[in-house]
Amino acid sequence: MDQYRVFGNPIRQSRSPFIHQSFANTTQQALEYRSELVDIGLFSETVHGFMLSGGKGANITVPFKEQALAMCDHLSERAQLAGAVNTLSFKKGKIYGDNTDGIGLVNDLIRHQVVLNNCRVLLLGAGGAAKGVVLPLLERGLKQLVIANRTVSKAQAIVDKFADQRMLAIGFDDANKFEFDLIINATSASLSGESLPISSSVITGNSVCYDMVYAAKLTTFLQKAKDQGAKLVIDGLGMLVEQAAESFFIWRGVNPEIVPVLEQLRDSLKSE
Ligand code: NDP
Repeated sequence: MDQYRVFGNPIRQSRSPFIHQSFANTTQQALEYRSELVDIGLFSETVHGFMLSGGKGANITVPFKEQALAMCDHLSERAQLAGAVNTLSFKKGKIYGDNTDGIGLVNDLIRHQVVLNNCRVLLLGAGGAAKGVVLPLLERGLKQLVIANRTVSKAQAIVDKFADQRMLAIGFDDANKFEFDLIINATSASLSGESLPISSSVITGNSVCYDMVYAAKLTTFLQKAKDQGAKLVIDGLGMLVEQAAESFFIWRGVNPEIVPVLEQLRDSLKSE
């Protein structure tokens, strides 16, 4: 049976085996997808060993996405611009790298009927996740993409790399000088329950607020958004399933259904 893996450290928390095995069942694809904990210094050896044993593809998660990029023979444009790879495919001894996180976010936004054309977007954070969503967002015809980060120089580095006139880098303090239709939290602040120092005037009744983090309850950011009357609040569970669906499509050439898997994941989150 065709073999797939998700490699990371830690890995126990990964929901990818459940998601991909569900996709395989519903699309009648014969494959096995497992998670594997990789020692920090053994990433390249592990991936090469898996490829040589006949493995077909792998997802890569924290902290190996940059190392994965470095070992690819071929890279998609979106992986190059993201500076990170989350999907590897092995063909005739060559490694192909892609990044599906950004398209996962965009597809989740579209599923929630968020109109991206002409949209004014505030992206909070300038780490790997933020970098990965810039190209797929810009390709959807945004009017403006402002990146705010605690360390402004990191936001500026992303803006410099893309050299697109619609982009601007700022500190959190300056976010209230603009108006936004969509605010995306790509910081990891929600993981520790911290709130971001953005002025309450930034979120209005017209705002759609998205947090890449997901949890059983609303994250600190989404709770604040809801309290301030945001039009719509969305967490990152859909992005997780959508990025997996894009990887599955790259490997198997079929589009799995999102909603049944998402509903099962939501139920299991609530009962944890
Ligand atoms: P990184 O470590 O690369 O970046 C973290 C970012 O968060 C940086 O911009 C950092 O700012 C900022 N940050 C961290 N703590 C704080 C804080 N207390 N206040 C303000 N800013 C803070 O992480 P990633 O970019 O890889 O991931 C970001 C989040 O997105 C994670 O929570 C991850 O779980 C989530 N994610 C979700 C996905 C999904 O499918 N739903 C996919 C990928 C990621 P600074 O630069 O100043 O340090």
